[in-house]
Amino acid sequence: MSAGSMASLDASAIGDEIGRWVSVESPSADAEAVNRMVDLAEDRLRAMGASIERQVGQQGCGDILTGRIAGQSEGPGILMLGHLDTVHPLGTLQGALPLRRDGDRLYGPGAYDMKGGNVLGFAALAHLHAQGRRPRLPVTVMMIPDEELGSPTSRPAIEAEAARAACALVLEPSGGGGALTVARHGMVRYHLRVEGVSAHAGAEHEKGVSAIREMAHQVLAIEALSDNARDFTVNVGLIRGGIYENRVPDLCEATVYARVPGPAEADELRAALDALKPHHPKARITLTPGLYRPPYEKTPQIQALYELACACADELGIALNGARVAGGGSDGNFTAAAGLPTLDGLGVIGGGPHTHEEYALISSLAPRARLLVALLERIGAS
Ligand SMILES: [Zn+2]
Repeated sequence: MSAGSMASLDASAIGDEIGRWVSVESPSADAEAVNRMVDLAEDRLRAMGASIERQVGQQGCGDILTGRIAGQSEGPGILMLGHLDTVHPLGTLQGALPLRRDGDRLYGPGAYDMKGGNVLGFAALAHLHAQGRRPRLPVTVMMIPDEELGSPTSRPAIEAEAARAACALVLEPSGGGGALTVARHGMVRYHLRVEGVSAHAGAEHEKGVSAIREMAHQVLAIEALSDNARDFTVNVGLIRGGIYENRVPDLCEATVYARVPGPAEADELRAALDALKPHHPKARITLTPGLYRPPYEKTPQIQALYELACACADELGIALNGARVAGGGSDGNFTAAAGLPTLDGLGVIGGGPHTHEEYALISSLAPRARLLVALLERIGAS
């Protein structure tokens, strides 16, 4: 995307640029690979006159890239958020999910979640820059290296930017038919460790206390907390225990992953887990909180942002297909929970996130980019 190539915001230029981003594979846990993607994004931001900050990656994750672009006025601005990592390991592009076009679909790792959305945001900014126009408010573009891991190294930086901003626009994939995201459930993780007593399973079985058997009791109790009618779901998705078949296992570990609609349910889960008692008197249970994405709840300010987007879409003749509460978390959970009005799901329309069928709809590219241009020029115009 040289300065001029995106000025027209046409689908083929944007699609070509998504192809370039998708061609730089960037699985979260491979810092070198993610940083090659950061290099490309940094190039693009420099080309549109952004000032760049790059925080060196931590704990084996890639760098955090921040680009600042001046607005027509100063003061708190728009935080434009996206992530550069994908869930697809290196080699996916040469194997299960090659970059390819099939009718209206552009397939490739991250085409939908969420290199496509990032490119839309960049295209909107490049378009304004090429025409000598500016967003009304200053824009801080933040590209995160570890979102698919729960943003373990980026959360403090995101929250620091959220504290300085007027609102956040998150470029995560849109919902079906183009729906924008105005709320997300919280995602809560706990690690559960059960200790028993080991013994020879043949010779001295009666001396043992099986950690696996104990864990089985706990899993049933934990999963019974799920209440689908309230969107409160608790999943034990990982479990590991035992070493030998002829030994009573003295250790079993599990990961609890829960979806909570609001903070009350997060507290409810915590209280229920804290109250777990060992089924066997000699077993021990230890609970450790893991990564947490707090619930992202719709506020009147978020509704106002959404209505502004609807007004812009109407003027442009773009169908949005309403607002949605998204099931999965995003970095928008952090900005919204910090009190920042957050509009998410502004990225491409498509499907197959986290699968080998991931695609972006080419027909969605130009309209979504135009919507972002309109938002950048309208937000702050009170
Ligand atoms: Zn994503």
